[in-house]
Amino acid sequence: DKFKDGMEKTRSSFTSKVNDLVAKYRKVDEEFFEELEEILISADVGVETVMELIEELEMEVKRRNIQDSEQVKEVISEKLVEIYYGDDDESIEKLQLNEDGLSVILVVGVNGVGKTTSIGKLANQLKQEGKSVLLAAGDTFRAGAIDQLQVWGERAGVDVIKHSEGSDPAAVIYDGIQAAKSRGVDVLLCDTAGRLQNKVNLMNELAKVKKVISREVEGAPHETLLVLDGTTGQNALSQAKTFKEATDVSGIVLTKLDGTARGGIVLAIRNEMGIPVKYVGLGEQVTDLQPFDAHQFVYGLFG
Ligand code: GDP
Repeated sequence: DKFKDGMEKTRSSFTSKVNDLVAKYRKVDEEFFEELEEILISADVGVETVMELIEELEMEVKRRNIQDSEQVKEVISEKLVEIYYGDDDESIEKLQLNEDGLSVILVVGVNGVGKTTSIGKLANQLKQEGKSVLLAAGDTFRAGAIDQLQVWGERAGVDVIKHSEGSDPAAVIYDGIQAAKSRGVDVLLCDTAGRLQNKVNLMNELAKVKKVISREVEGAPHETLLVLDGTTGQNALSQAKTFKEATDVSGIVLTKLDGTARGGIVLAIRNEMGIPVKYVGLGEQVTDLQPFDAHQFVYGLFG
C-alpha cells in the first residue's frame, strides 16, 4: 500500500536494525535497552520520547517477566502507540471540519518545506471526498508563491483567489472567504507566508489573518496546519516550537517522509510538541498525501 511504500526507507532501516538487535541479544538486559535507545534516537524519534519509551518498556518487561528479546518487539509497538496518543482520543488525527457549512483551514510553514504542494494535495483529496474547495493565495510575500499555488490549483481542479504580490494577506483571505461564502464552498484552504526570520512580523501577520477568519466565519479557523519537512529532523522540531509560540497550531503535515530513513520524527513532534500529525507527504505527485494513523505507522515499522 501507499503508506508502506512511502515509508519504505524508515521501515527497512528500522526493521533491519531491530532484527539485528534481537538476534544479537537473545536475552533482554541493560545493553539491549542501550542499543535500542541508540537505534531510536538515530531514527529521529527524539530523546525525550525515547527516554519515556525505554522507561515504559523496562517496567513492562519486569511486569510481564519477559526474558526473550523477540517478545520485546511487540511491546515496543504497543508502547509507542500509547505514548503517541497519551491521554487524547484517537480522533485527534482526523481533520476537524464543519460538516454543515464553510470550513476554513489556515496553512502555515517556512518556505521550501512543501507547503504549496501539500495545499494542492489536500485540495485534491478533499475534492475526491466530494467536497468543494477553494484556495486563497495568502503568501503575498515570496516571489512566485501565488503562481505556484495557481499551478497546484489547476492540478487539483480548484479555483484560487489571489491579489498581486506584496498585497495585504488579510485582504486576500477576506476575499477568499467572501468568494467561498457566495459560491457555497465546503472548504477554504488559506496559504500564508512563512517568515521565520522575523518572529514579531510572523506573529502579527498570522494574528491579523486569524482575526479576519474568526470574525467572518463562526468557529473558524477550523484547523491551523503547520507544514514541516520530515527530512530536517531537529530543525523541524525547532520550527514547530516557533510556530507554536506564534499561533495556535492544531495539526501537522509532515512532508518528504519518502526521502528519509528517519521517520521517527513523527513521534517526536507529537510527543514533544503535543500536536498531532494529521497528514504525511510521501512523494511529489498530487496523490502522495496520506492521512496519518499512528497504529499503521508504528506497526508498519516492524512489518
Ligand atoms: P513551499 O515553499 O513550502 O511551498 O514548498 P513546495 O511546495 O514548493 O515544495 C518544495 C519541494 O519539495 C518541491 O520540489 C516539492 O516537489 C517537494 N515536496 C513537497 N512535498 C514532498 C513530499 O512529500 N515528498 C517529496 N519527495 N517531495 C516533496
